[in-house]
Parts: sequence; C-alpha cells; structure tokens
Amino acid sequence: PCGRTPLGAISLAKAYGTHQVLSGVDLAVDRGGRLVVLGLNGAGKTTLLRILAGGERPDSGRVVHGHGLRLGYFAQEHDTLDPALTVRQNLALAAPHLTDGEARTVLGAFLFGGDDADKPAGVLSGGEKTRLALAGLVHSGANVLLLDEPTNNLDPASRGEVLSALEAYPGAVVLVTHDEEAIEALRPDRVLLLPDGVEDLWDDGYLDLVSLA
Ligand code: ATP
Repeated sequence: PCGRTPLGAISLAKAYGTHQVLSGVDLAVDRGGRLVVLGLNGAGKTTLLRILAGGERPDSGRVVHGHGLRLGYFAQEHDTLDPALTVRQNLALAAPHLTDGEARTVLGAFLFGGDDADKPAGVLSGGEKTRLALAGLVHSGANVLLLDEPTNNLDPASRGEVLSALEAYPGAVVLVTHDEEAIEALRPDRVLLLPDGVEDLWDDGYLDLVSLA
C-alpha cells in the first residue's frame, strides 16, 4: 500500500506527563520527497523525529513504514559518531559498502581534503562532526533521512557543505530546522507546521517560505 510513500504517520499523539506535546499529527513522505517540519522551541519537532526513527513510542497513532524503507537519523547531539574511532573508521561504520577509494573521495569533499581522516572523531569541531555524520548518512544506503537542525551552529564553510549535500541527496528528507537558507536549499514539496507555532511563524515570515512548497 505504500509504494510511493516510504514513510508516513497517522494521527500521532504523545504526552510527557500532563504535557501534551503532539496530537493528531499526520504526515507522508514521498520517494525522494522533501518535508520540512517547522514549529517554535518546544513544539515537539525532536519528539516527532524520534518517534519516526523508532526511538520513542507514540501514545496513540502509528508510523507507517513502506516496503524497503531504510532510515538514517541525524540527532542534534552527534551521538551516532564514536569519538574514540578515527574519522575514516566512523565513515566506514556508517557507510560500510563504500570502497576505500570512495571513502577517500567522500572525506576529501566533506572534510577539506581529507587531512583529518586519521584523527579521532572526538577532536573534530562541532561543524566537522556534523559534516562527518551527514557524510555517513548520505552514503549509508538510507532512502529517507531524518535530520534534526543539521545547520545549527555551523561555520560558513560547513554550512555550505551541508546545504549542497542536502540539495544533491537523491533520497527523501525530513528536515527540522529554523534555518531559512536550509529550507530554500531543500526546496520542500511539503511543510508540516506543528500547531503551537503557527502564529509566531507567520510573524517571522516563515509562511512566505511555506509558499515555496
Ligand atoms: P526545540 O526546537 O527546542 O528543539 P522541539 O520542537 O524539538 O524543540 P521537543 O524537543 O520535541 O521540542 O520537546 C517538546 C516538549 O516536550 C518540550 O516541552 C520538552 O521539554 C518536552 N520533552 C521532550 N522530551 C521529554 C522527556 N523525555 N520527558 C519529559 N518532557 C520531554
């Protein structure tokens, strides 16, 4: 039933104690589609991604996985990287079918010439860690990426790298972000506004971006 839609959700609800964070959230992501999730701080964007990634259970509603779904999840905390392993080893873990030559090319493109390939990932800057985690995801064989604010706190060079990787990625992307440039780079075909944020987003001009979709 999900040939065109590798990932969807029907009527998701989630509360923490008495705090209702999500209610009645529906979404569908087409093959190669781009969904941007907008909402104010605390609107439940990270909670939604964690539920879609299977890291948390909704109180009600359900997540629908289409045939052949392979998910990649980028969390704000970079906790998919192992700080004790080298940059090259981290990439090999995330994207095991890259050949050595392909891995060198990827590291060269993502990490300024690949000079850092033998350093432990733990010594990288925040921006470099983000680029390494995304390089792993983009080449992991995933066909849907769930990305939680991947351009937060990045230096300009890293931002450029991350935005071009997003533009070029052929699979589907679900992007949580406050970053207008990232939204423009992704050119979403759908936007999900988590309800708590709608009015203020309007004031901030976000709904102009929604009209891009
Ligand atoms: P931000 O833009 O600040 O990252 P967000 O839209 O991603 O916000 P969430 O991180 O999903 O929002 O959090 C939504 C609400 O749920 C917040 O009020 C948060 O404090 C609360 N919350 C999140 N996780 C838990 C948890 N494990 N236990 C209790 N409350 C939680």
